[in-house]
Amino acid sequence: MQKFFAKAAFLPDGWADDVVISVDDHGFISAVEKNAKANDAQLLDGAVIPAMPNLHSHAFQRAFAGRSEFATATQDSFWTWRKLMYEFLTDLDADKLESIATELYTEMRQAGFSQVGEFHYIHHRPDGTPYEDPAELSHAMIRAAKTAGIGITLLPVLYAYSGFGAQPPEDGQKRFLHDAQSYLALIRQLHAQYKDTPLVKIGAAFHSLRAVSPEMMLDTLTGLNDIDPAMPIHIHIAEQMKEVEDCINWSGKRPVAWLLGNAPVNQNWCLVHATHMDADETKALAQSGAVAGLCPITEANLGDGLFNLEDYIKAGGTWGIGSDSHIMINMPEELRLLEYGQRLTHRRRAIARTDDQPHVGNYLYTAALNGGAQALGVKTGRLETGYRADFLTLDITDAAAQDYILDQLIFVGNIAIKACYIGGKN
Ligand SMILES: [Zn+2]
Repeated sequence: MQKFFAKAAFLPDGWADDVVISVDDHGFISAVEKNAKANDAQLLDGAVIPAMPNLHSHAFQRAFAGRSEFATATQDSFWTWRKLMYEFLTDLDADKLESIATELYTEMRQAGFSQVGEFHYIHHRPDGTPYEDPAELSHAMIRAAKTAGIGITLLPVLYAYSGFGAQPPEDGQKRFLHDAQSYLALIRQLHAQYKDTPLVKIGAAFHSLRAVSPEMMLDTLTGLNDIDPAMPIHIHIAEQMKEVEDCINWSGKRPVAWLLGNAPVNQNWCLVHATHMDADETKALAQSGAVAGLCPITEANLGDGLFNLEDYIKAGGTWGIGSDSHIMINMPEELRLLEYGQRLTHRRRAIARTDDQPHVGNYLYTAALNGGAQALGVKTGRLETGYRADFLTLDITDAAAQDYILDQLIFVGNIAIKACYIGGKN
């Protein structure tokens, strides 16, 4: 049992003074007391807020950051970026992947992230043949998280086709490929091996509607349900207009509408990006209880477009943030860019808020904590009994300005994150 004392801490019902957080031997919060005496508790140096889940990561892309910021065509796009990215990953072996991920996860933790959702689609050797242990690279990601001291929700990805209508995969995709059976065997193995490992959660992912067939997706979902009915399930969706147009040509429906109409989407699901939704899709996704996985810096970098945040919030939608391609690891910047994109489009201010929470910083931070934790299937993101003790200390002590701390963290950028405690360990 450990005890921590904070002069100021951001609890689920707002800022509180003189807070003692008790943490049990498994790293979970066993009590939170306000207006308490420090006594023998370890003094935390600065204001305390929950650490942030990072719901979407492709770790290997961190080593590619800054290596695609040049013209390769008359009009560059996501698709010309993807061509460079595929070339980059061809010779990454297991050791390189693990060392990139270890460095990245260490950076993430320093940036205030508690748990990473690793959307893991490189499964095989550079020549496309499976490793002796088909989970070799999954183990590498989990080892990297352990070395960095961050939680991980590993989301091995099912990837089988290159386009809608089960088009054969391209050569650049040979390291990603599974069928439903080999994929379920991988998930079963990982789930059995890691189900009792602290800071590790096994989920599942479909790369996109382009990369699986409807039959394959439904068969896989049946198998996943047998392994763990509450397993997090992630999918990339409607990131690019080309994908929306191809989906309409294939099915007559837009991607989010197709998915909501054909798969049992519920609170276990995370729809990553969901950038291009019409008004009905926005409402339906909010009502499904699933999380919209927003990656504002990457979406800006790739020229994806803007998520319809205002209508989604009004419809009661749940969302969280991910650093995706890792062009920049900066947690407050993800939230800042999310709001600024909306301001620039709507030519108004204070868009991400609710009637109950007029402070944009408080709204953004709290919503991203809740959505991120839900998407990753982990009890984190709240300084409350029963939750994992994942928190940050901020370089600010001015208690008179508590209502502005999160606004300032996100919009001013002059508050440093000093330390990140995961499961109570520094
Ligand atoms: Zn992604």
